[in-house]
Formats: sequence, C-alpha cells, structure tokens
Amino acid sequence: MKRVLVTGGAGFLGSHLIDRLLDQGHEVLCLDNFFTGSRENIRHVLKHDHFELVRHDVVEPILLEVETIYNLACPASPVHYQYNSVKTIKTSVMGVINMLGMAKRVKARILQASTSEVYGDPQVHPQQEDYWGHVNPIGVRSCYDEGKRAAETLIMDYHRQNNVDTRIARIFNTYGPRMAANDGRVVSNFVVQALEGKSLTVYGDGSQTRSFCYVSDLVDGLMRLMNTDGYHLPVNIGNPNEFTILELAEEIRTQIGSSVEIRFEELPQDDPKQRKPDITRAKDVLEWEPKVQLKEGLQHTISYFDRALKGEIAMPRSFGASDSR
Ligand code: NAD
Ligand code: UDP
Repeated sequence: MKRVLVTGGAGFLGSHLIDRLLDQGHEVLCLDNFFTGSRENIRHVLKHDHFELVRHDVVEPILLEVETIYNLACPASPVHYQYNSVKTIKTSVMGVINMLGMAKRVKARILQASTSEVYGDPQVHPQQEDYWGHVNPIGVRSCYDEGKRAAETLIMDYHRQNNVDTRIARIFNTYGPRMAANDGRVVSNFVVQALEGKSLTVYGDGSQTRSFCYVSDLVDGLMRLMNTDGYHLPVNIGNPNEFTILELAEEIRTQIGSSVEIRFEELPQDDPKQRKPDITRAKDVLEWEPKVQLKEGLQHTISYFDRALKGEIAMPRSFGASDSR
C-alpha cells in the first residue's frame, strides 16, 4: 500500500485512476482546483477511508508527504486550455516544478501526464517517441503544447540533475464516461449532439484523423508505466487504430440509431491533420496494449451520456466552456 498523490484527480482521467488506486488498496490524495474537474467525478469516494481531497492550485507550492505522484493537473480540451492560455502554460510549467520539488524533497516517484500534442501537427506517421515533433510555438495551441514540452524538459532535467525517479506518459486522445459533456472534445460533442437530436459539428472536411483510446486501457497503461522500474524516457500510451473524424461521426450516428445531419464548420487553427501512436515501446517495456476497441468503448460512453442526459446519474459540466466550441 502506497500514499499516492493524484493532481487533477477530479478530472476525467484522474477520477478513473483514483478508482483503480483505491481498488488496489492505496491511500489516495486528490489535489484539484476544480477548473475543469468536478466534485461529481469523485463524489462516490469522498467518504472512502483511504481518500483525501485537497483543493489547491498546482501553480502554488505545497508541502505533502507522499510516495508516488501522478501529475495530471492541466485542462486537456482545446476549448478549456485556450480559455485562459496564460494560466494553462503556468499550470504545466509551474505545476510540474512544484511537483518535482516535492518529489525531490520526499523521494517520491513522479509520472507526468504528457501528450501526443508534443508532436504538434506531425510530419512523421505514426508517431514514435524519438520524433521531436512539429509544433507552432506561437499559435493558439502552443500554451498547451509548449507547456507540456517544457514540462517534459523539466522532468528529464530533474531526473539527470537531481536523480528524481521520473516517468513520462505521452497520452493520445482518450474518451469514456465522465468526460464533461460541454468540454468541446470530439467524442463527447458528437455523442451528446446525437443523443439530443442535434447536428454533428464536424470541423473542416472531417478527413483529419485521431486514434481513440478507451479510458480503462489508458489508466492501465499509466499504472504499468509508473510501476515499471528504471524507465525514464517518454512512452506513448494510446490506441493505434486510426479513424477520420467523419468515420467517428458515422459510427456514433449508427450506434445511436440517429439520422441527425452532419454540419461542417471551420477547422480550428493548427488542428493536427493526422495522429496515430506507434506503441512498440509500450508493448516492449510495459507489456501493454489496449484491449477495448472503438465500437465497444463507444457503447459504454454512449450509455453513460444517455443516462446522464436523462438525469439518472449526475453529469459533470465543467466551468468556463460553452456547449460546443
Ligand atoms: P480534465 O480537464 O478532465 O482534468 C484535468 C484536471 O486538472 C481537472 O480536474 C482540473 O480541475 C484540474 N486542474 C486544471 N488546472 C489545475 C491547476 N492549476 N491546479 C490544480 N488542478 C488543476 O482532463 P483529462 O482528460 O482528465 O486530462 C488529464 C491529464 O491528461 C491532463 O494533464 C492532460 O493534459 C492529459 N492528457 C489527456 C488526454 C485526453 O485525451 N484525455 C490526452 C493527452 C493528455
Ligand atoms: N472536432 C470536430 N468536431 C467537434 C470537436 C472536435 O470535428 O465538435 C475535431 C477537431 O477539429 C479535431 C478532432 O475532432 O480535428 C479532435 O478534437 P479534440 O478537441 O477532441 O482533440 P484534439 O486531438 O484536437 O486535441
């Protein structure tokens, strides 16, 4: 049993990770400022004997005694991270400095939730970890992309200079229950739109691709990486099955049995054209690969949003975002 800190624990991925850590008998401290996270995501564990909630912003220093740190605090949806772009880059950079300082002080192992966005609009396909990426350093996505890249730099420098026991997970698009209905990401947007009988908003011509990982697989990959000794280089965690955004829209319409129209809207600036992880390293080092494919993962996700929209379960809605873009 370990004392584990999860920053961003009230968010989509963090709350699923916390469930799994508690199931395994660990003591969990959830740190969150509730910018995009929600109390609803963690309500079911608030009274758990091994769970503690700390309302705090990772940009500010904090003294805690833990053995393991998952640093997930950062808005992840483009709508959210562009809402206050200065705060986004501060969260990534100052947040990881504070968490690395803590890891150094208490000799904790720390995992950084990095992202496929470090590859930007990639010119290499699929993306391997040794690809340096193609990021616009001054565009609207750079507060997130460059913040996460700087965080990786800090993680590696604290490892080399101070011998901190670090991990870097490069997470690719992940979906599932507890995504905020209004956070603007493509899976939650399309599912909610189709369930509400509204047109699906496809940005651009829908030929851009993404590779979607179901949340249970992702959490499994993160935990395997954390628990693998002596590996400090970045590892892609994602599902390599690649779909165009139009194919995703069709699949969601088919599964819901909906005939809503597709409405084409302007493609956001610097939207990556294609994205697919090469997961050879995760297979070799972690013996991990995703198990849940898109059809099945969407069934769980659609069923979750269906119940949430009918009021059968509480629906987390995040602060600051409108219903679509
Ligand atoms: P999310 O927005 O649901 O969760 C982020 C959590 O961090 C929220 O609970 C939010 O309130 C909290 N937070 C934000 N800023 C904070 C701050 N300054 N101090 C304390 N807490 C703060 O997003 P998610 O999808 O759960 O993503 C979790 C992590 O994984 C993020 O770091 C994100 O960059 C990374 N990631 C996610 C995906 C994905 O597809 N979901 C892909 C790549 C990387
Ligand atoms: N997208 C879309 N319609 C939406 C939301 C997103 O067509 O309602 C597209 C978006 O332009 C991008 C892809 O879907 O090409 C994935 O977007 P998301 O915001 O989920 O994540 P990203 O990978 O861009 O960070």
